[in-house]
Amino acid sequence: MNGLPMKRYIGCDLGGTNLRAAIVDIETGAVLHHSNIPTLAREGHEAVMQRMADLFVQIVQTARLQMDDIGGIGIGVPGVLDLKKGETLFLPNLPGTWPHVPLRDTISNLTGLPVAILNDVRSITYGEWKFGAGRGVNSVAVFAIGTGVGGGLVINGQLYLGAGGIAGELGHMVIDYNGPRCGCGNYGCLEVYASGPAIAAMGMKAVAQGLTTKIGDLCEYDLNRITPELIARAAETDDPIAMDIYEKAGFYLGVAASSICASIGPRRIVVTGGVAHVGRLLLEPMERTVRERVHVMPVEQVEIVQGQLGGDAGVIGAAYWAASRLGQQTRS
Ligand SMILES: [Zn+2]
Repeated sequence: MNGLPMKRYIGCDLGGTNLRAAIVDIETGAVLHHSNIPTLAREGHEAVMQRMADLFVQIVQTARLQMDDIGGIGIGVPGVLDLKKGETLFLPNLPGTWPHVPLRDTISNLTGLPVAILNDVRSITYGEWKFGAGRGVNSVAVFAIGTGVGGGLVINGQLYLGAGGIAGELGHMVIDYNGPRCGCGNYGCLEVYASGPAIAAMGMKAVAQGLTTKIGDLCEYDLNRITPELIARAAETDDPIAMDIYEKAGFYLGVAASSICASIGPRRIVVTGGVAHVGRLLLEPMERTVRERVHVMPVEQVEIVQGQLGGDAGVIGAAYWAASRLGQQTRS
């Protein structure tokens, strides 16, 4: 240790398919080095944790640094965690679901570095707030739209984790209490209406019903090829069915965002994740819905914006989480 404050941390995104790791300058949020390898999750959690540790050692070597130059490691994890014990509790997208796996201590033992873990979308939220689209304001809500709808909250300049460390599951806000069953066990959650698969399903239904829409031409009438991106391409040609699908998805997001405005009064709402690339198609109806519906707070002060850090938000946020959580703690 040279006594200078540590400014380089490793951020990691543990995905069901890929393991991403980056060395992040936590003063600027810059990604200095990054690496991406397959998770090979089917090999089980022991093997995956060994691959993670090897990846961290290797990325430090590639950057021509020593392990001592790294302040710690932050890992974004797709599921429910016990932050106190540093264990995973339930990772629905990984084989075996990782019940009570001591991820934090295992990686710390294998690398000799202190480790902090955090839910993956909360990592994205923290990254976007500190270095991306949420910069400069102290209350932010994030909607991450992909295979599901994830979320996160920063309130009064702090990542809000709530009881059990699980707050921020904005995709499971109820839009319609009579709605279809959600994967979480509740009914009519936002995720049922506005996730990537939900948007694709609206396109599939339109084509299957024989409606006249460009979506059918673009997928060559193969329903399995319909994605949110393909529907967006149809909408860009002013196809009314495709535009209506995004109008609906944006409306549902706006309904959920209205509840967020009323409950926490965020200064900014950030929409990110794979589906957010469609931009105004989704954000316009979302924003319109919020402006029309919210009257109990100064809704004109709430900005609704797209994420800025893209696929790096998670590793940047995880690294910054490790830095905030571990501080300048001395290693032995
Ligand atoms: Zn749900």
